[in-house]
Amino acid sequence: MSKDLAESGRLQTLLSRLGAGLDEYLKFKHPDALHPGYHWRQYLDIPLPKQGIGIDAVTDELLQHVIPNGSAVPRPGFTSFITTGGTTAAILAATAASVAAPQRYTLMAFNLLEELSLQWLADMFGLQSMKGVYSSGGSVANLLALGAARQFAFEQQGRDPGLDGVDRPVRIYATEEAHHTVQRSAGVLGLGRHAVFAVACDTEGRMLPDALRHAIAKDRQAGILPMAIVGNAGTTNRGEIDPLRALGEIAKEENIWFHVDGAYGLPGMLDERIRHLYQGLELADSVITDPHKWLGASVGVAATFVRDRELLKRAFMQEPAHYLEGSVESVEGDAPVPEHSLNDFGIPYFDYGVELSSPSRGVVVWALIREIGVSGMAERIRRHNDMASKIAQVASEHPHLELLQKPTLSICCFRYVSDKVTDLDGLNRRIHRQLLQENKNMPSTTIVNGKLAIRPCFVGARTEMSHADALVEDVLRIGAELSGSA
Ligand SMILES: *Cc1c(COP(=O)(O)O)cnc(C)c1O
Repeated sequence: MSKDLAESGRLQTLLSRLGAGLDEYLKFKHPDALHPGYHWRQYLDIPLPKQGIGIDAVTDELLQHVIPNGSAVPRPGFTSFITTGGTTAAILAATAASVAAPQRYTLMAFNLLEELSLQWLADMFGLQSMKGVYSSGGSVANLLALGAARQFAFEQQGRDPGLDGVDRPVRIYATEEAHHTVQRSAGVLGLGRHAVFAVACDTEGRMLPDALRHAIAKDRQAGILPMAIVGNAGTTNRGEIDPLRALGEIAKEENIWFHVDGAYGLPGMLDERIRHLYQGLELADSVITDPHKWLGASVGVAATFVRDRELLKRAFMQEPAHYLEGSVESVEGDAPVPEHSLNDFGIPYFDYGVELSSPSRGVVVWALIREIGVSGMAERIRRHNDMASKIAQVASEHPHLELLQKPTLSICCFRYVSDKVTDLDGLNRRIHRQLLQENKNMPSTTIVNGKLAIRPCFVGARTEMSHADALVEDVLRIGAELSGSA
């Protein structure tokens, strides 16, 4: 009997052992992986093994040495990156897909959920006139959206850039606050990273529409083709939302593609107190969001939405391959969720992006939304926004804290102040370093209008108001120690 057959039926046993180990890990009672004198590396860093040790011993090693020395990112007090630990629903769905849906082709339940969950996301975020495609993260999601923008701009010039490449300089209008994956996308798309122009912002970090108009006019005069305007629905640094309506109107007047990067902040619109800030989203030609950020998906799930997936197809399709096209038929265009012949490949997502083999990601998003519904999502988003507001309120009242920007979403930029210290940037940098060493409440830092800010970003499903309170207490305690204000 083959080894795998001998092991069949044991998945349940092994997965329950794994589940127990992961539950233990999520208590975060284990020592920090960076803790000195804790020698897990010596168990793992071994030469290529000639002989295997078998599945039980592999499971033991996972439980003893790998999982307890995993990442701090899922820790509830971890507020540095905008990624977080997947929720339990996400973990279950991703595990199920790894077994039962190794590809996203043909008519089967996981593929139905691929399209259905994209439609659910579109419904949840008011993008009903758009169709989506999943990819691995905001980086690729931006790449796909800007690939559609490139296709649109050059087709207007009578050229197919997917087929023939580009033959003139273009401009992408973004801001300093835009995510740097916009520049990388421009590089990958053959436009060059210098094609991205940083339009001036107001002091809150939002694009100034007049500066955008001015930049477009100047480029047109110089013979540069305006290709896309990139608006942020939630900047990575400060969680700010660009004036989407104003940018979208300029895009329409000028016939330029309007892309909205909502990798982090798109779900913010579920908080009805700030929904009005998303007005103008309906003018977007493409929108991205990262379910693996605020929605709690396991890492590796992003979505790009466009009005017409045929544009993505012309931008990214592969040349025909007989081993694929000869064996089954693809559903052309935006056909509905496949429900017909057994020969159907299903919706050709592989032509709408840059991945052929790909995990089924829809099942993860389906599970997240199915578990708690839109109302559960909205409640979590409001809670995270409240946490940033609470810190802002404390920071604006406390004599040793300074609020550097009033939060819009779940990011709050503040710092410790003391009149005993002149180098406040240095002081806050040291406070931050100590927070990381203590390994409990771990924000990041950023620069806000020239000042070093402590920047917690609350997106983790396991993060509660008590973690925001604890972070402020830690900053006050460490700040007092380091500045001698205690
Ligand atoms: C995180 C982020 C990205 C990149 O997303 P990844 O999933 O990390 O690739 C792009 N844009 C914005 C605004 C982001 O916050």
